Amino acid sequence: QEKQQRHAIEAQIAQLFAPEDDGLRQALESAKAAGLPEIQINPIQGKLLQVFAAASHARKILEIGSLAGYSGIWLARALPADGRLITLEIDPKHAEVVRASFARAGVAERAEVRVGNALDQLSTLQTEAPFDLIFIDADKVSYPQYLEWAIKLSRSGSIIIADNCVRGGNVFQPSPEMSEDTAGLVKYNQLTREDPRLTTIVLANDNDYTDGFNVAVVK
Ligand code: SAM
Repeated sequence: QEKQQRHAIEAQIAQLFAPEDDGLRQALESAKAAGLPEIQINPIQGKLLQVFAAASHARKILEIGSLAGYSGIWLARALPADGRLITLEIDPKHAEVVRASFARAGVAERAEVRVGNALDQLSTLQTEAPFDLIFIDADKVSYPQYLEWAIKLSRSGSIIIADNCVRGGNVFQPSPEMSEDTAGLVKYNQLTREDPRLTTIVLANDNDYTDGFNVAVVK
């Protein structure tokens, strides 16, 4: 009962503050039709990304891990007309869905998906840096390396956000048996906590602490 009540409140917040429009709904539908996994952020997280984009006066945003473009649409919509979103995706099939969804959502002019392993692509982005906001949401094993790149590609005041940094609390109970993915997240949380260049907090995205963002501001 209590849990149900919490979920009802969460649904109300989503409805009132983060309603989805056709562009977002269609992105989800075409992802499903193409057989992509349903592992995108939720609407409250999408709106939270927009809040952080506004806080960092974002004109240039970098995303690592596009999937079907759902979070990308939220991010692109936080940009001014002459702003730019670059989103990195390893799977060409995903990137194809992203391009179609960006076009339908009306953000294709300011949002671009680049195909390839993000770790290879990041070094090519130095001429396009600094990014005002960087959203990390790809393979968890590489999160520590993504963080180093994110800091390199940012400026004072940039915000670096990484998804899946709560994982039901698993990431706060490291053990020798943990998966490589969990180990990557444990390391990411530790690096962001200890790095003197960052001010960091982990934010649960629901009251059951299922998962959440790690939010780091570059000093
Ligand atoms: N940000 C998306 C959203 O919320 O709508 C969800 C991203 S999904 C959790 C992770 C994506 O990262 C997948 O599409 C996967 O193919 C991609 N990915 C995994 N490893 C990658 C890598 N090394 N480089 C670039 N993309 C990668």
